[in-house]
Amino acid sequence: PYVIAQPCVDVKDRACVDECPVDCIYEGPRSLYINPTECVDCGACEPVCPTEAIFYEDDVPQDWAWYTDAAVEYFNEV
Ligand code: SF4
Repeated sequence: PYVIAQPCVDVKDRACVDECPVDCIYEGPRSLYINPTECVDCGACEPVCPTEAIFYEDDVPQDWAWYTDAAVEYFNEV
């Protein structure tokens, strides 16, 4: 799946939400989250993010790699 990382925190622009064909981007308390089990890897969300917060899971910068796990945990809890 694609992953939303640190640049989204306290921004939540939502441009990606309008692009996602399967509506798998959800609003959390401080950032948006992509549901990793619903994402179809289309990539439509990535170029529209004004803060460049979205990465394919293999391309998440190392410092933000934990956002991949954070998304899994977020959807396990909601
Ligand atoms: Fe939605 Fe496609 Fe982005 Fe996955 S890659 S979150 S399916 S727009």
